[in-house]
Amino acid sequence: MERTLILLKPDAVQRGICGQILGRFEQKGLKVVGLKLMRITPELAARHYEAHREKKFYAGLVKFMTSGPVVAIALEGIDCIRIARNLMGATFGADAAPGTIRGDFGVSRSFNLVHGSDSKEAAEKELKLFFPEGVLDYAYDAFAWVYDPIEELKK
Ligand code: UDP
Ligand code: MG
Repeated sequence: MERTLILLKPDAVQRGICGQILGRFEQKGLKVVGLKLMRITPELAARHYEAHREKKFYAGLVKFMTSGPVVAIALEGIDCIRIARNLMGATFGADAAPGTIRGDFGVSRSFNLVHGSDSKEAAEKELKLFFPEGVLDYAYDAFAWVYDPIEELKK
């Protein structure tokens, strides 16, 4: 089992499509283990996007991410970092394939609705930043049917 951090960005909140986006992850079979509406401070944005500090889009990105509330989500599942990124689609909405979140809901290069951790290291760091209190551990009955217990859960 793996965990990842998803952020529904301020554009998703203001457009009222958080429920639909969260539904994409849920219907795929990923378990929600953390969920909150919150405001990102400039300090948190700086730590979260540390790797992009030198990029020309950095200042605009921090301004965007702190411009309104976001929904922070912690997801759990086998290989969930990669699976969540695939559900999100390519970074720029205009390039993202139909069927993906970014492909179905937007066209922008910056207002692209959703963030997802891109590696195990990033997921661990980002989950600590957004859920310092930890995530919730509970039995998720759907997993009994999402996974073939003989195939996947033995690995
Ligand atoms: N971004 C932008 N302009 C660019 C590239 C990225 O505004 O040319 C923003 C966009 O919101 C993106 C975020 O910066 O989601 C982080 O960029 P990254 O390359 O990590 O894309 P992601 O991992 O989100 O697909
Ligand atoms: Mg990224």
